[in-house]
Amino acid sequence: MIDTSENKNTQKTVKPQEHTQKQLEGILALAQTGFLQWRKTSIAQRTTSLEYLSNLLLERKREYAELMTQEMGKPISQSLAEIEKCAWVCDFYVKNATRFLADELIQTEADESFISHDPLGVILGIMPWNFPFWQVIRFAAPTLTAGNVVILKHASNVSGCALALDQLFKDAGFPKGCFQTIFTDYDAIEDIISDQRIQGVSLTGSEKAGKSIASIAGKHMIKTVMELGGNNACVIWEDANLDKHMDTIVNARMQNTGQSCIAAKRFIVVDDIYEDFIEKFKEAVQKLIAGEPEDEDTEIGLMARTDLLEGLEVQIRKSVDQGAKVTLGNRSEGSYFEPTILEQVKPGMPVFDEEVFGPVAAVIRAKNRHDSLEMASNSKFGLGTMLFTEDIESARKAIGSIPDGSFFVNEMVKSDPRLPFGGTKSSGYGRELSKEGLLEFVNKKTVYIN
Ligand code: NDP
Repeated sequence: MIDTSENKNTQKTVKPQEHTQKQLEGILALAQTGFLQWRKTSIAQRTTSLEYLSNLLLERKREYAELMTQEMGKPISQSLAEIEKCAWVCDFYVKNATRFLADELIQTEADESFISHDPLGVILGIMPWNFPFWQVIRFAAPTLTAGNVVILKHASNVSGCALALDQLFKDAGFPKGCFQTIFTDYDAIEDIISDQRIQGVSLTGSEKAGKSIASIAGKHMIKTVMELGGNNACVIWEDANLDKHMDTIVNARMQNTGQSCIAAKRFIVVDDIYEDFIEKFKEAVQKLIAGEPEDEDTEIGLMARTDLLEGLEVQIRKSVDQGAKVTLGNRSEGSYFEPTILEQVKPGMPVFDEEVFGPVAAVIRAKNRHDSLEMASNSKFGLGTMLFTEDIESARKAIGSIPDGSFFVNEMVKSDPRLPFGGTKSSGYGRELSKEGLLEFVNKKTVYIN
């Protein structure tokens, strides 16, 4: 039933047979009956399963990490770290879910008035390949803990991870119907979203996929959370401590071989520090260790699919035609793409305007601090902005002018279970993680008792 293959477009993955319409109906029916039971369980019962899941993740850390590395070329050290982070988000909700989901009392003239947090039902998760475990666990852990059940449609180039996740939730003791994985085409996904048993959809992926799914969900008044692409600016002011922060700045772009929505994609550097920055940045990027994803020392692995690499090459070629200069890298072999720096980048070029999903840094010279912030906000995306400066007072004053979902000062934009995560504009809407993420798929019910 499962065919293991290596085609020229992807790393090695499994290809499970697609579910038939009848099987999909069975999955939806099981999800619905599963929900009717699961919603009656106490939060303590739910977090007991979550705690067990966290332990299993850590026990099976190497197995899962190797699977991710094999399927999408992530360096093994980063795959191991991803599994640890999955355990962290579970632990976070084990500790905090009861408090987050408690009734919220509000004083009115009633004897008692409060908000109760009821689960919605069956939630579909459409997830991407770039963090094959993390994206799923960070969605499923809070969604299940709130009393919903989950159907996962994972990216087709990480089907092995999808199967492993399915087994993981079973092994952790989540009752039947709580977590199911489907393998199917886009038309069937449309039918599933149209089914009245589906009460929400969470999608992480491209803007194109987001628009398609949000419009289908919209037709049926289904709640959605959209975590889409990003084109984060990394702003460097003239007083930035480059020696202290350069590793972070490089990691902000090159982590996961540049295939991350929250990566720093546009480096906007104030003129007074430009030469110093570019010299140190190039030196640090050149030191990155590229190699076999399975090697523990490897920092730059492979692109997940060769079509993504080809897209990257087109974005670079077009930008160079418009005047950008490649000052480092820009060579490829198979699905390896060398860490690359482009300078003299300007608005209007693909590497400025579009999301660049690979190890490519676009460097832009800004006249001054004001110009740097204007340039940072000049994007249709709004996931996050990072600013490196020693002038924290001025950084604080800039908060209001950043139209993104996050603003990190002297740190790379990163997800953290304790903090809300999400975007604005074409980066989507809704929040994951923290209390905000847990409350995305709940009915915030007003209760008034007199
Ligand atoms: P996609 O957005 O196409 O894929 C993400 C997920 O959505 C996958 O599970 C995919 O399924 C599914 N999907 C896509 N379109 C539909 C649809 N119409 N109906 C149902 N499911 C759908 O990302 P790609 O893999 O094509 O990557 C392309 C670009 O997307 C990247 O270059 C990057 O810009 C962005 N991206 C952003 C991510 C993020 O973290 N925000 C993550 C991944 C990609 P399937 O795999 O079967 O096509």
